Amino acid sequence: MTVPRYKWQPTTAEIAAAAGIAESQVERFDHNTSPIPTSWAAAVVAGSSTRLNEYPAASYTAVREAVATHTGLSPDRVIPGAGADELILLAGRAFLSDGAVALEMTPTYALYVIATAQVGAKMISVPAVGPDFVFPIDAFLDQVARADLIWLCIPNNPTGARPDDDGLRSIIEATDGIVILDAAYSEFAGDDWAESVRRYDNLLVLHTLSKAFGLAGARVGYGLGHPDLVSALDGVRPPGSISSPSVDLAVAALATPARMRATVADLTRGRAELARALEGVGFRVLPSSTNFLLCEVGTNASVLHAALMTEGLVARKYPESGPLAEYLRFTVRMPDAHRRLVDAIERNLT
Ligand code: PMP
Repeated sequence: MTVPRYKWQPTTAEIAAAAGIAESQVERFDHNTSPIPTSWAAAVVAGSSTRLNEYPAASYTAVREAVATHTGLSPDRVIPGAGADELILLAGRAFLSDGAVALEMTPTYALYVIATAQVGAKMISVPAVGPDFVFPIDAFLDQVARADLIWLCIPNNPTGARPDDDGLRSIIEATDGIVILDAAYSEFAGDDWAESVRRYDNLLVLHTLSKAFGLAGARVGYGLGHPDLVSALDGVRPPGSISSPSVDLAVAALATPARMRATVADLTRGRAELARALEGVGFRVLPSSTNFLLCEVGTNASVLHAALMTEGLVARKYPESGPLAEYLRFTVRMPDAHRRLVDAIERNLT
């Protein structure tokens, strides 16, 4: 069996070299990361920087406790990971096997297909509905009984949409399987899953510090779920995938949620401004509960993507054969980067 490969985006150094500009001139609208530099982090990693000769404590108790304080759940309901990505792959390994069946809606985050195929399981992908790619609740419910594991991305990447709570509840309650709810963008949607985690023993909610917490380079995420689900993931995770500096950064970030809330407020304002500007250049901008905007650009999407790239402006594009061939996705960045982007789009469209 061939497992689909995750397609890496080109690096900033590669893009700068191809465009003939400095790396600092490259603006990443394709990674859904925070544009806010982490100058506060230097003091935090100073401590761990002198004891890198030793492994981090494999239990990651400090991260579990920091997450517990942040969420109000007990530490035995917390599984730390080297980003949500590691937890997605571990969930595939822990809960799926050869011949098992997983369910997702499509388009969604590409790693679920890989996590499913890597262990020989089969994926059922239910297409989203209409031009806004609405979550296909009824068609999804028709398939739920067949699935050992359900992947949900709430809000969804790449569409930005968030289905309503009633639909989500009906899915979680209709299955005897495991529900992996990827809440990577939850802070932008104002979601708090702690109560659902207490209520549903089959629900594992994945969070990341890469988005609203602005720590993509640290590679830290965490899962929330019943202690049995946590224990299942603990059984398949490597002993030390989160580095000691990243542990310290995660603990510091979770202990100061005000910084994250300020980021969410700034980027939510920035999202409204960017949406208006992109509508102004003629794109159809889909509603978003995240830090990115999916835009219907038209048949010239891929040409425009390439033109922007030559100026160091990196949008996210999608396969020519898929439903998003005429779409580009843009991460919300700083106002001056938005002006640079919109100016470049206007120049290239005329
Ligand atoms: N899930 C979704 C839906 C994402 O968009 C991303 C980031 N691309 C991730 C998970 C990965 O997050 P992390 O950086 O924590 O691995």
